[in-house]
Amino acid sequence: MDNIICPFCNEDEFDLIGLKNHFVKGYCSAFNETISVEQERHLTSRSSRQEKSCAHHWVDATNEVIKGGQYCTKCHAISPAA
Ligand SMILES: [Zn+2]
Ligand SMILES: [Zn+2]
Repeated sequence: MDNIICPFCNEDEFDLIGLKNHFVKGYCSAFNETISVEQERHLTSRSSRQEKSCAHHWVDATNEVIKGGQYCTKCHAISPAA
C-alpha cells in the first residue's frame, strides 16, 4: 500500500497519483503558499525598489537622538531638519 506523506502540509495516505493531483490541482495550501527562490528574489528586489520611491510620510521626530528632524513612517528614513 502506498502511504506517502505530503512534505508540505504533512497530510498522509497519498499514492503517487493522489500526491501529484494534490499539488497540480491546487489542493495543498501549504504548497500553494510556498514560493520559489526566483519569486522570492523578485519580491525582494521589488520591495527595495519601492523603498527608494517612497512617497515619504514625514512626522516630526525631534527627540534626544535626532536633535530636530523628520522621520518617515513608511520607509523609516530620517531627514535632518530643513
Ligand atoms: Zn499537501
Ligand atoms: Zn519614506
